[in-house]
Amino acid sequence: MILHTVQVGMTATNCYIVGCAETRQGAIIDPGAHPERILKAVEQSGLAIQYVLNTHCHFDHMGANADVVAATGALLALHPGETPILEARGGADWFGVPVKASPPPDVLLEAGQVLEVGGLRFEVLHTPGHSPGSVTFYLADAGAAFDGDLVFAMGVGRTDLPGGDWDTLRHSIGEVLFALPDETVLYPGHGPETTVAAEKRNTRWMLAQGVSL
Ligand SMILES: [Zn+2]
Repeated sequence: MILHTVQVGMTATNCYIVGCAETRQGAIIDPGAHPERILKAVEQSGLAIQYVLNTHCHFDHMGANADVVAATGALLALHPGETPILEARGGADWFGVPVKASPPPDVLLEAGQVLEVGGLRFEVLHTPGHSPGSVTFYLADAGAAFDGDLVFAMGVGRTDLPGGDWDTLRHSIGEVLFALPDETVLYPGHGPETTVAAEKRNTRWMLAQGVSL
């Protein structure tokens, strides 16, 4: 698996460029801002981008969808639970930030669906709670999961935004994400990578006590 991380925007979103080393096909996860920097990294990687994927559609994860889709010709894929947020430009008006409108999705994702990118298999896990249509992209062969704003190193996603729900988040973490093998590397939407095993330990008190960050 080829992996490049580009930190973009005011919330330092991790935009991931993920590719297949054999076929040089790839996907972009969460182009939140700074399309020129993302596209430069894509060019340097030599990958042909098949999909632009949104773990969810808050502005800091979709703000560069329009420019990145236009430049790559890739298919935009996201969960239908996010389309209202996408159409509201990622909640730009709640946050008071200027955000370019995204094109509509080409592919509506559902739980269990697998997107093939060269030899890579991106399995869609529906992991709502931070937002209704949040998903995790799980690459079992690579032992990697791109989990958006579900779990971070030493933290969990906030649930106070419209459509967020603490009990739903707790279920997604405990029953879906933590059902993955302990050694799975988590690539979150913000901050450094971590593992399922580490976050089982780190988040136990938060999940038990109902503390949302
Ligand atoms: Zn978010």
